[in-house]
Amino acid sequence: MKFLRYSYKDKISYGILNEKDATLITPIEGSPFTNYKKNIKEIKIKDVKVLTPCDFSKAVCIGLNYRDHAAECNLEIPKSPVVFIKPSTSALAFGEEIIKPEMCKRIDYEAELAIVIKKKTKNIEIENIRDFILGYTCANDVTARDLQPSDGQWTLAKGFDTFCPFGPFIETEVDPNNLKIKSILDGKVMQESNTSNLIFNTDYIVSYISKIMSLNPGDIILTGTPSGISGMSDGATIEVVIENIGTLKNSVVY
Ligand code: MG
Repeated sequence: MKFLRYSYKDKISYGILNEKDATLITPIEGSPFTNYKKNIKEIKIKDVKVLTPCDFSKAVCIGLNYRDHAAECNLEIPKSPVVFIKPSTSALAFGEEIIKPEMCKRIDYEAELAIVIKKKTKNIEIENIRDFILGYTCANDVTARDLQPSDGQWTLAKGFDTFCPFGPFIETEVDPNNLKIKSILDGKVMQESNTSNLIFNTDYIVSYISKIMSLNPGDIILTGTPSGISGMSDGATIEVVIENIGTLKNSVVY
């Protein structure tokens, strides 16, 4: 099932994408994080403004989680997950513009599978972790690459406003360990891999983070990017495509 959040006639709602006809949404009352009931009357997706699929208190991100990406950055493969955070102010919806900050020269895309947390998650073992996951979505870990080495931590390079596009759908029924993932920059495939190549898999990551900090409903976890990173120019269009989940598309403004 694919959930999305949208505004329609000045009201913000969740809905479910019609499985047979992706031009239609079944609105719901309530939210996928609690209880909901379906409305009977469907609406057209072209008539709504798609929003981020949830509000997060934090986006927890894993760095260097594909071997090939660690190699292209000349960094060693980590023995435990490299964890950093993007602030809630970096969130960006499908179709909105990624804005290049004046202080950086090069902004990169990073196609990533994101995990959406369903309920408060703290100190949960791997075997029980799926109960705490609502689903999976597409994300772009936008990075001011030239600023990344200037700071021992990555918050500066990855924390600017608009640097966390994610969505448009939360897919609740996929196997996160075997999904094709790619990025497409101005129509050209730049990254192409599969989540089976993750060094630390999704269940391990969520359990691991839950032993560090409480995860709240709507928090998202970005699981790392494969090789093939590069910069985005003014006016570029960047797409993150994940099998059976959807396509996240944004443009870039300098
Ligand atoms: Mg990343």
